[in-house]
Amino acid sequence: MIARRALALIAALALAACGAETDPRQPEAQSTNARPIAIVIHGGAGALAPGRYTPEEEAAHILALEEARDAGYAVLDAGGSSIDAVIAAIMRLEDDPKFNAGKGAVFTSEGTNELDASIMDGATRNAGAVAGVKRVKNPILLARAVMDKSVHVMMAREGAETFAEEQGLELVDPQYFYTERRWESLQRAIERAERGASLPAEFKFGTVGAVALDRDGNLAAGTSTGGMTYKRWGRVGDSPIIGAGTYADNNSCGVSATGWGEYFIRLTIARDICAQVEYGGKTVTDAADDVIFNRLSATEGTGGVIVLGANGEIATPFNTDGMFRAWRKEGAEPYVAIYGE
Ligand code: ASP
Repeated sequence: MIARRALALIAALALAACGAETDPRQPEAQSTNARPIAIVIHGGAGALAPGRYTPEEEAAHILALEEARDAGYAVLDAGGSSIDAVIAAIMRLEDDPKFNAGKGAVFTSEGTNELDASIMDGATRNAGAVAGVKRVKNPILLARAVMDKSVHVMMAREGAETFAEEQGLELVDPQYFYTERRWESLQRAIERAERGASLPAEFKFGTVGAVALDRDGNLAAGTSTGGMTYKRWGRVGDSPIIGAGTYADNNSCGVSATGWGEYFIRLTIARDICAQVEYGGKTVTDAADDVIFNRLSATEGTGGVIVLGANGEIATPFNTDGMFRAWRKEGAEPYVAIYGE
C-alpha cells in the first residue's frame, strides 16, 4: 500500500516536472493559504432598500444567511467537497420559508409552485438541472442526482419527479410549498395584472445559490428557485440553465445568479463571467462587474451574481437595491449583507 502510494507520488511528480496536464481533481500541491477554502451564498437580489424590513426581519434574514453559509463552510473545513458544501448551504435556504426556493417558493399565475434548480462541478464540468418540479422537497438534491446518477444534464416536470422517486428523494404534497406571504404576493400581482399595471421589482426576485472552493481546489456552484411571482405556467428561468444561472469550472470561476431570468438567459451571464476570466485573463471582480454593470445594465435586466474564483477571489455585484449575500473564506472575517454598500 505504502509502496503503491510512493509510486503514485513519484509518477505525479514526474508528470508535473514535464509540465503534463494534471487531473483537475488533483491540483498541484500548494499551501492552504495560496488557495483557501471558501464559500459564497446568496438569497436573491431585488428591491431591498433599507426600510424594506423591520429590524427583527432583518436580523432573521442575517441569521439565516449566516447559518446557511456556515453549514457549507463546516463541510469544507472538515475536508468535504465543494459539491457537498453547496448542497448543505442551499438545502438550508430551500427549507427556510423566507427565501424563494423550496419551502418559500413563489406562486405561478395559476397558483401553483414550480421549482427550478441546477448544480455544476468545476472539476469535471459535469452538471445537473431540473425545471418545473412541483413535489420535490429539495430540488437541489434532484439536480445533483441528475448530475451523478443519470446520463442527462436536465430533466423537467413529471419526468424529473419520477426520477426523484426512483432515486429515493423526498417528495411532498404540493401544499407543502404554500406560504401565506407568497400567496398574498400572488394576489397583489393578479390585481395589478388585471389593472394592466406592470409588476414592480418586489415581485420579481428571490432565488438562492452557493459557490464553494474546497481543499482540493475544486469549485462547485448551485442555484435553486421558485422563479418569479405570477410567472406563466411552464415558464422556466435562468436558474436551471447551465451557463445562465449557474456555472463552475476549475479553470476560471464558479457563479450563481439571481435576477430577471429572461435577461440572464439571453446574456448567458454565468458563462460570460467565467469566459472573461479564462480567455480574457480578467480578475473575477473585473469580469463580474463588466457583465452586471455594463452588459446587463445596458438592457432592462436587473439582478446580481456571486462569483468565486479558482484562486479564492470573491465578487458579489448587483444592479438592484440589494442582494442577500454572505461569504466566508479561510483566514478572513466572515461577511454578510443585504443592502448596497
Ligand atoms: N432568476 C430567477 C428566475 O428568473 C428569479 C430570481 O433570481 O429571483 O427564475
